[in-house]
Amino acid sequence: MFFVVGLVIGSFLNVCIYRIPRKKSLISPRSSCPDCHTHIRWYDNIPVFSYLLLRGHCRTCKAKISIRYPCVELLTGYLFAHLSVFVQYRHESPCVFTGYAALSCALIISTFVDLELLIIPNEVTFVGIPLALIFSVLCPGLHNEHQTVRNFSLFGISRLDAAVASILGMIVGGGLIFLCGVLGKWIFRKEAMGFGDVKLMSMTGGIVGWKLGVAIFFVAPFFGLLMAIPVLIRKKTHLIPYGPFLSLAALVCIFFQDYFIGIVDVYIQILTILFTGLHL
Ligand SMILES: [Zn+2]
Repeated sequence: MFFVVGLVIGSFLNVCIYRIPRKKSLISPRSSCPDCHTHIRWYDNIPVFSYLLLRGHCRTCKAKISIRYPCVELLTGYLFAHLSVFVQYRHESPCVFTGYAALSCALIISTFVDLELLIIPNEVTFVGIPLALIFSVLCPGLHNEHQTVRNFSLFGISRLDAAVASILGMIVGGGLIFLCGVLGKWIFRKEAMGFGDVKLMSMTGGIVGWKLGVAIFFVAPFFGLLMAIPVLIRKKTHLIPYGPFLSLAALVCIFFQDYFIGIVDVYIQILTILFTGLHL
């Protein structure tokens, strides 16, 4: 059921990926073929199935439909299904699922816009950052430190804690990428990291908290290197979208959060020992 819901939402994310960077309305007009401008009928607009039925071509003009459409739909479907199992397995509230699912949607839009146009749209991050805080307050369970709090007592102190955790996550997540960009600019004497990545990581940190924010910061470059090397050799370009790697790292860190928080905790302990040692 979550997979099917994900497919339908993925279909809407496709609309966002195409229209948001082109500054078009998300509601009207109805979807049409970018080549012949024929309105797409409802039976040609069924996620994945219509693409397979039409074998990836427009019914009217036979123009090729991007493989991105079914990919985004399947990816969203998969993530919704995985997240629902993940949240149930951990006995989290449905609210936690909503928070993670919303973040996944924002990451999918950012990733595919970044892959195509090398930008992360402000429309996503400027909506996502305040939403991350709102989700955290509505659902303190999102922040690992407050896993025990699952009731809905309004004005409970746990909500305040979650808000603090969310803001801290935004500052640490965005701050690390920002520092990286400043350092890169100083070393390479040119723009090393886009400001879109800073905002993307602020949004993500606002949902996952500062510890996972740190984990994502260190995991993303591994994915980046794995994929950047063949791209650099083939395309001979120095511009590589970093949003997709941050997004991938964010999802991996969410699904294996106990493991990654454990690692961050070990480093915190090591640093604490080092600093107290220096004081002694
Ligand atoms: Zn067409």
